[in-house]
Amino acid sequence: MTSLAIYESFFSWQGEGYHMGKAAFFIRTFGCPLQCPWCDSAGTWHPDWVPDSVERMPVGELAARAKMTKAEFVVVTGGEPTIHDLRPLTKAIALIGLPTHLETAGSFEIRGDFQWVTVSPKWAKPPLPENLQSANEIKLIIENEHSIDCWLPKIEPYLSGQPVWLHPEWSQRANPRVLSAISIAVKQRGSPFRAGYQLHRIFNVDALDTGARPTVPIGGHQRLGF
Ligand code: SF4
Repeated sequence: MTSLAIYESFFSWQGEGYHMGKAAFFIRTFGCPLQCPWCDSAGTWHPDWVPDSVERMPVGELAARAKMTKAEFVVVTGGEPTIHDLRPLTKAIALIGLPTHLETAGSFEIRGDFQWVTVSPKWAKPPLPENLQSANEIKLIIENEHSIDCWLPKIEPYLSGQPVWLHPEWSQRANPRVLSAISIAVKQRGSPFRAGYQLHRIFNVDALDTGARPTVPIGGHQRLGF
């Protein structure tokens, strides 16, 4: 049976975007080549934070774990999940009758059958136009007061009415310049722009499941580079 390198899998609820607040089973794949300076999942790639060993898990076992929960859907995230061929995983999840959602930077071809795709562009390798066009929602991480103006020319030609969430990068979540930039953009532009947040972090809900690994330092660490 096909297996994938999995950093963690756990039952929680979706803390971001259109499906915020719904019970969800999360599968976080291992590995990411994008190396964002504020990565909040550095355990999936950063040499200082990767675990001693990473399990390869059969896709059927991952689906079976999800089935044991009250999850409304399964979220495949990373790392950057699309560096893996996700077709066997989405097939296994379909067999248990749950929709599969994908969270991706959109930089690579998407291999798998997903019922919802969230593209969160990253500067290291901006998303493929076809991934932006087919995304159900877009999540821009707002690092500073200039982020929105920098990203919009890159993504606006490919928008087709899907929501565009403006999330403060977590280490900047109390930076008034970042929060004001988001508020002004939403008020001046209206739809499809929406102010976003990572509500699950306030609740610390992921940590309630033993399948979740402890969170690594988040964002803005000058020496470590994330
Ligand atoms: S934030 Fe996402 S895309 Fe960026 S380095 Fe971390 S896992 Fe990779």
